[in-house]
Amino acid sequence: MKAYVLEAVNELVYKEVETPKCKSGYALVEVKAACICGSDIPRIFETGTYHFPTIPGHEFAGIVREVADEEYKDLVGERVGIFPLIPCKECSPCKDGTYELCRNYNYLGSRCDGGFAEYVLVPIWNLLPLSEEISFEEAAMLEPISVARHAVTRLSDVKGKTACVFGPGTIGMLMAQWLRILGAEQVILVGTKPEQAELAAKLGFDKFCNSKTENVEEFIKKHTNDEGVDIAIEGVGNNGVLTQCLQVIKAGGELLMVGNPHSDAQIEKSVFWQILRKQLKIYGTWNSSYHGGMDSDWTEAVKALEGGELKASMQITHKLPFEELHKGLAIMKERKEFYNKVMIIR
Ligand SMILES: [Zn+2]
Ligand SMILES: [Zn+2]
Repeated sequence: MKAYVLEAVNELVYKEVETPKCKSGYALVEVKAACICGSDIPRIFETGTYHFPTIPGHEFAGIVREVADEEYKDLVGERVGIFPLIPCKECSPCKDGTYELCRNYNYLGSRCDGGFAEYVLVPIWNLLPLSEEISFEEAAMLEPISVARHAVTRLSDVKGKTACVFGPGTIGMLMAQWLRILGAEQVILVGTKPEQAELAAKLGFDKFCNSKTENVEEFIKKHTNDEGVDIAIEGVGNNGVLTQCLQVIKAGGELLMVGNPHSDAQIEKSVFWQILRKQLKIYGTWNSSYHGGMDSDWTEAVKALEGGELKASMQITHKLPFEELHKGLAIMKERKEFYNKVMIIR
């Protein structure tokens, strides 16, 4: 089969490799669509994976082509989404069913071979069979969709609340969509690009603050009767944004931290005080919940796609042929043109 093999940092080679052999408990999945995650850029170009060679790609979907066990043979031909985390099922978070916090997990596309290939070997437990209503492109986005849902469900009930999402990238825009689905009354987006504002408007979010040209605090005050928001979501991982979040939350409000940190964070004493004086609640989030076929972020993500409440495909800005992964990676690495979700399809 053809695959993109990361042989060393910054050495992703498109080449012929042996197709994985199916084994008991696993399915051989033919990849139909695979997204490039923001985290793939440093993984491929700066830090590398846990060992070399590895085939990256953890956001993908496809069709089951082979199973080793007789009892799973009905799965052959099924269209599937894939939960990329393979938990140990032995540590205490795993025993509690919070697999996203597993202390000894394997991961398709970073710790073992993933979706930038024609075929991937996936544990049966990690397969989520899909109806015809969901396209492979949307299904490849199930991971970020679930991660975004997991994030906003860390907060207390969002119904009727005003929220502000800083950083309207893939996850940011998906979090805004989830906030609306879960009943938030108003969702404000803060970004830096006019194209983000256009995409936000297409998705039905008309309150967009460009922090490069507008004063964020004033913008938020103007749209919240001078009160500030109930919820601020830090989706950038940036010190200045963290400060802005703390400043625009109203008393008793909530801060959700989602963006991967780019550096140390420091906050001025006057801002630090606000956490205390406003009695803010601060949440972190990690990955997404998944419980095989039982209710989880992933099954809710599937429902929201099937019901059409969540418009994932509108966030796909680049759909490239499988052979052009390097072009997609370059778009995200060089940041010369606007993108939200970049994917390859077969
Ligand atoms: Zn990802
Ligand atoms: Zn575990």
